[in-house]
Amino acid sequence: MSEAMKEDGKRILLVAACALVDADGRVLLSQRPPGKQLAGLWEFPGGKVEPGETPEETLVRELLEEIGVETKTACLAPLTFASHSYDDFHLLMPLYVCRRFWGTPQPREGQVLKWVRPLKMRDYPMPPADAPLIPFLIDLL
Ligand code: C5P
Repeated sequence: MSEAMKEDGKRILLVAACALVDADGRVLLSQRPPGKQLAGLWEFPGGKVEPGETPEETLVRELLEEIGVETKTACLAPLTFASHSYDDFHLLMPLYVCRRFWGTPQPREGQVLKWVRPLKMRDYPMPPADAPLIPFLIDLL
């Protein structure tokens, strides 16, 4: 299920996000394209969990659709969880780490992609839900 309702009437949105990690310990960030909400901000690739999907299945699908990278659910390890209240919805977003994937990331949806060291991530403005996840990646990598 991707949407539910909180007691205060706010919509809950479940989005899965992935820190794709390369052999040098860099993480792939994706800049949201113009025209989208939060355009210009850098985020972890991922997307809304569709009905009937697990977050891992969402990421396998989204990574292929958005950046042409193949992976498997078994290659995705949960790291932490973002929980952030936007004005119009509450975002719940598990962050997975993926070090085993096939293919070179390509921007298939007009986004800009960049491999970034965790310690450099603060130089890339992120959505308020994503920024608190950075320390977990610094600790891990
Ligand atoms: O990517 P999409 O637009 O489907 O995501 C829905 C909403 O979830 C975004 O408008 C944004 O507010 C939020 N989001 C986020 N961080 C992400 C992905 C989505 O805050 N990494």
